[in-house]
Amino acid sequence: KDTYDIVIIGGGPIGIACGIEAEKQGLSYVILEKGCLVNSLYHYPTNMTFFSTSEKLELDGIPFISNNPKPRKAEALEYYRRIATSDNINIHLFEKVTEVKSDSEVKEVISTKGRYKAKNVVIATGFYDIPNYLRIDGEELPKVAHYYNDPHYYATQKTIVVGASNSAVDAALEIYRKGGDVTMVVRKEYIGPRVKYWVRPDIVNRIEEGSIKALFNSSIKAIQEDKVIVETPEGEQHIENDFVLLLTGYRPNFEFLDKIGVSLKNEEKRIPMYDENTMETNIPGIYLAGVICGGMETHKWFIENSRVHAKLIVADITSK
Ligand code: FAD
Repeated sequence: KDTYDIVIIGGGPIGIACGIEAEKQGLSYVILEKGCLVNSLYHYPTNMTFFSTSEKLELDGIPFISNNPKPRKAEALEYYRRIATSDNINIHLFEKVTEVKSDSEVKEVISTKGRYKAKNVVIATGFYDIPNYLRIDGEELPKVAHYYNDPHYYATQKTIVVGASNSAVDAALEIYRKGGDVTMVVRKEYIGPRVKYWVRPDIVNRIEEGSIKALFNSSIKAIQEDKVIVETPEGEQHIENDFVLLLTGYRPNFEFLDKIGVSLKNEEKRIPMYDENTMETNIPGIYLAGVICGGMETHKWFIENSRVHAKLIVADITSK
């Protein structure tokens, strides 16, 4: 294909939604995904349960049938994979986009495997690739991780979990239930208010009964081979430790946006510039879709309220 109507960067749920919509409106498109199909979801914790019910994760009204009140990761992988394969979505996997040249009307998208010409580009790269690094001593040690996968690994081990939102709370509870010795380090004086409503009482009760230790109003200062140093209201504590999970959230790739030339509309929250009716950025023909739109406010957008971006974008393109 010489020039695509749309090149979509990112093969997450919303990138796929954009592909489906382009196909329906007769536009040529290709999705470029740097990892596997729905790469972010694939890297979620193995036992992760969505906070959304399955119909809110659906694309294009295609039924997502789950036997659980809230679907699990494995079911979501199955659902999005079946959509991609039965709808014959045009997607190239393990192909990372490194550059978008947008100085002329036909844009050039450069990836690790090729170059594409496109009239329009949709950036749907999400926020799960870059952790919020704490920039403390020892953060690079092999015992430290910014992603949590499975509790078995931590059985019998002294594990520090930093953070108090869904990722941190899920990890703390699972590891405790597989025999890990868990201490949470929480910056504020409470567990995050956005923790899934059915999980919150569980973590609060485990902390109250002392099954999971928690240091509130505290922050981790440094990580060493056999201990961590935590600043608490009672002063500095040195805690014996085997593993550290820094689950303090993730952020969009702002450097990538900046390199493409997308401006910010809010510097403090680093919210990218786009028109809410069309999703077009300050660069004509370059659009944003999905959770990347929230900047540092990564809780603002999720599948349910961002899947509509696909229709807005394709309607704008076809109207031109
Ligand atoms: P993503 O799914 O993140 O997709 C972006 C894709 O772009 C990725 O596959 C990535 O590999 C790819 N990519 C990035 N950079 C490049 C590049 N340069 N070149 C090529 N490809 C690239 N939302 C809900 O609606 N319900 C939930 O219950 C829910 N639970 C969540 C639980 C966790 C633990 C997390 C982290 C998020 C959760 N979310 C949930 C939010 C969820 O991540 C998003 O709603 C959903 O993944 C957003 O889809 P997306 O397509 O915008 O982004």
